[in-house]
Amino acid sequence: MNVKSACAAILAVAGLIAAPATASAAASELPSYEQWQADVREAVDPAIPWLTDRVAKGGSGLAIVLDIDNTSLETEYHPGEPNRPVLAVAQWAGQHHVSVLFVTARTSSSSARTQLSDAGYPIDAICTRKSGEGTAEGKQRCRADLTEQGYTITANIGNRSTDLEGGDYEKGFKLPDYDGQLS
Ligand SMILES: [Mg+2]
Repeated sequence: MNVKSACAAILAVAGLIAAPATASAAASELPSYEQWQADVREAVDPAIPWLTDRVAKGGSGLAIVLDIDNTSLETEYHPGEPNRPVLAVAQWAGQHHVSVLFVTARTSSSSARTQLSDAGYPIDAICTRKSGEGTAEGKQRCRADLTEQGYTITANIGNRSTDLEGGDYEKGFKLPDYDGQLS
């Protein structure tokens, strides 16, 4: 084998090895924290302007609903830390007489309340999934219960499609879940 054909053979082998490795990495690796934050901001930045208009229109019991994991808290990237673009929306709501409600697939609210409070969130209510309920089913039941209690749910912010399935809210803001990689 001369030098030229040897090089070609090495390149061919490298190509065979590199192609599947790249494909599998793309399917299994989460984006960088910086990329996630950029994607979160793109989804959430319209929320405060939208809420400003919504509050100006008036209504009773105005509220927002937030998902907890990988929406309110950086559960995957920095467990327990606030996801700051979403925290900013919650704090704006708290300052404008808009209730901040959390709807979660978690089945217990006790640790969630501590984590959210430590992260700086105002908390008016936390509604958890009942055992046996599906995620979307539990979240819909929570929104219906909260509406029954007198809240008018305006913005609903979550990172999974199951956060937004169903009704009992006015406008959804969908954060990324990267094909189900973020709970
Ligand atoms: Mg989530």
